[in-house]
Amino acid sequence: MSITEGNIIRAGFSAELDQLRDASQNGRKWISDLEQRERKRTGINNLKVGFNKATGYFIEITTSNLSRAPKEYIRRQTLTNSERYITPDLKEYETLILNSQERVNKMENEFFVQLRSDIAIHAAERILDTAHALAEIDVYQSLAEVAAKQNYCRPVLNNEDTIHIVAGRHPVVEQAQPDIPFIPNDANLSNHDAQIGIITGPNMAGKSTYLRQVALTVLLAQIGSYVPAETAVIGIVDRIFTRIGAQDDLATGQSTFMVEMVETANILHHATPRSLIILDEIGRGTSTYDGLAIARAVVEYLHNNKRSGARTLFATHYHELVEVAQILPRIKCLNVAVTEEAGQVIFLRKIVPGGADRSYGIHVAQLAGIPRPVIHRAEEILEELERKGDAKMRRKTMRDMTMPVAWQMTLMAPEAHPLIEELKELAVDELTPIEAISKLYELQQKARKDS
Ligand code: ADP
Repeated sequence: MSITEGNIIRAGFSAELDQLRDASQNGRKWISDLEQRERKRTGINNLKVGFNKATGYFIEITTSNLSRAPKEYIRRQTLTNSERYITPDLKEYETLILNSQERVNKMENEFFVQLRSDIAIHAAERILDTAHALAEIDVYQSLAEVAAKQNYCRPVLNNEDTIHIVAGRHPVVEQAQPDIPFIPNDANLSNHDAQIGIITGPNMAGKSTYLRQVALTVLLAQIGSYVPAETAVIGIVDRIFTRIGAQDDLATGQSTFMVEMVETANILHHATPRSLIILDEIGRGTSTYDGLAIARAVVEYLHNNKRSGARTLFATHYHELVEVAQILPRIKCLNVAVTEEAGQVIFLRKIVPGGADRSYGIHVAQLAGIPRPVIHRAEEILEELERKGDAKMRRKTMRDMTMPVAWQMTLMAPEAHPLIEELKELAVDELTPIEAISKLYELQQKARKDS
């Protein structure tokens, strides 16, 4: 209802307004009873009282009954089959109704404007405070309701560098597919022995869901909510970093791969040992070798660089990355279990230790409805590639890249640098701390001069 429609001020608020309203209502009542009264008085059964904008209220009598029209009726309008009249009383009530309605509207509008400015001046703060309080209550009550209905548990928060979740679920996915049972999964991360979890498994297996459910559980725990799990012990994190999804930002000249790299760079620069990092594929936007190399270098950096030794979950379709776990002690491999029955992949949605050895990409393509001839051809090509030993070669390349420094050197500096020779010769354990510092300074000066 808009304020111009009237009736926005409750009865009893203003005696003057109530009187005006009564006058207007009485006038209307007098007019609405007029038809019956006049029919009785004149004996004209089809006498009508009507209203139109041009002439206002009128009494209408058909031509056949004109002789019975009372003397005091004043003729206003002649139509084909009838005449329209007014009477002095009718005119008086009409004026009363129109005037009082106009004044009611004006008065209501004045009260409304006054009320609005009173609120703006005096009560804005109180109203906003109340709104904030209600908003806060709304948040807590929503979290409490979800926790009770969905069987969440109360998490334990501590200052350890671990995350232990038993039978965790994704709070949204489990709701979004009510007919499919959600398979719960554990999560165990710790800076000192299981810092990085590398999760492999085919597309559609449930990697992204798992990553996100761990991040959401930590987030919920830290905002004071119960969490979708049987138990959860969360070592407080300072930030959750995510690199998720393939997006481009072509309008500002950023390709999908560029966006991916910018996000990864941000994580590598800012993550701390207290952070949680969720990496959902890295290097997908470029060629296989590039992508694999970058993914591996990122994992090595997160593992080896003390400044950014964050708890990390890294989902990847490069199952070759699994081999890094054999070299770097704080990396644990996980995969989302699948089985095959009659050539069909069945997703078990269960996170289990170890790496996946196949990516099942062609099976997923088939599930998605890629035409049969394309699937057959892809299988032929895959077989051919595997026969040519391409996969074996890729694995060998990865194995050769044991340490990042060695790898960089093979790529960029085949001949040993004199500084490296000097470093090799240096008897570190024979130096005093002061000597070590000045040696370091000297080496840095040389390095800067050379570059
Ligand atoms: P991936 O990242 O491995 O490609 P997703 O995490 O996107 O796979 O999962 C694909 C779909 O599988 C989800 O949209 C969801 O419907 C279902 N799913 C994933 N994890 C589970 C689970 N634990 N229980 C039940 N369904 C799941």
